[in-house]
Amino acid sequence: MANWSNYLRSSCLAVFLLLFTSLVSFGSPLPIKPVNPAVWGFYGHKRINRMAVFTLPPEMFGFFKENLEFITEHAVDPDKRRYAVEGEAQRHYIDIDHYGEHAFDSVPRRWDEAIAKYTEDTLQAYGIVPWHIYFMKFRLQKAFESKNIDLILKYASEIGHYIGDSHVPLHTTENYNGQLTGQRGIHGLWESRIVELSAEDYDYFVGKSAYVQSVLDFAWDAVEESNNAVDSVLRFEKLLTDSLPADMKYTYEQRGQALIQTYSKEFCDAYQNMMNGMVERRMRQAIIAVGSIWYTAWVDAGQPDLSSLTNTPPSPELLKELQELEEMYQHSEHKGTICD
Ligand SMILES: [Zn+2]
Repeated sequence: MANWSNYLRSSCLAVFLLLFTSLVSFGSPLPIKPVNPAVWGFYGHKRINRMAVFTLPPEMFGFFKENLEFITEHAVDPDKRRYAVEGEAQRHYIDIDHYGEHAFDSVPRRWDEAIAKYTEDTLQAYGIVPWHIYFMKFRLQKAFESKNIDLILKYASEIGHYIGDSHVPLHTTENYNGQLTGQRGIHGLWESRIVELSAEDYDYFVGKSAYVQSVLDFAWDAVEESNNAVDSVLRFEKLLTDSLPADMKYTYEQRGQALIQTYSKEFCDAYQNMMNGMVERRMRQAIIAVGSIWYTAWVDAGQPDLSSLTNTPPSPELLKELQELEEMYQHSEHKGTICD
């Protein structure tokens, strides 16, 4: 059986903030209700998938543009699945620091070599995001080869999610929510709160997607870049917290019927400045990475003519499957809980 803690910690965009904002409420007479994530959550993943479409070459752009809403909306399906599907949680992260100080030299990049060294149980226990990106790219390539509209849409949407996660520093460490350093809540601060407050001001001109020679190395490089930023992510939050009066760190906002506590805009802006725009930088990097992996899967599939796939909606079967996922998620007791 998969490690239960993995289910509780697959730290993904927005959902942590739901926990944070729903539970860290203060003594308000107003009822505390779960926030509907469809209204404001999952923001970053959707934005990344959406903007990645605009990096694609003309041969791909028509099909992806026609399905822009699908690819945007279903950027968050993997998060919706994580409590219901065993094995899903660990696809979103890798606790690379579990493997020691020089982990990137120690952990083989190849799946079979890593299994041989650590066992698959260990790999699954500490997260598999770089390998899962590699597997998903292969699935997407097969979907292009067979010109299967459903699978192209599904896998393109989902690989965008995992690539997005791999660009988040706190998806690469055991201290994923600052729980080991007294900074609980930092996960949602970095990847949800800041994004929600600032993403409209970010520059999304990221250029054109490019062919990726080695998807596995590409995924690992993204994880390594993310992990290199973990120290700054943690250190600056602590410095800022220590330098500000406590009542400047948080604010209270009305969300539907609930009054919730969340990080203040002043704190978020100051934190972003200390990180010198890291959140925007990682988001831009994720966008071009998603576009490039989509493009690479298409090239490796032999550059199939996608114009024959336009004017064809996804099948009723796929829409039914996704509707069921949505209903399961909406009724899940875990909805809105994540990270700890
Ligand atoms: Zn995720």
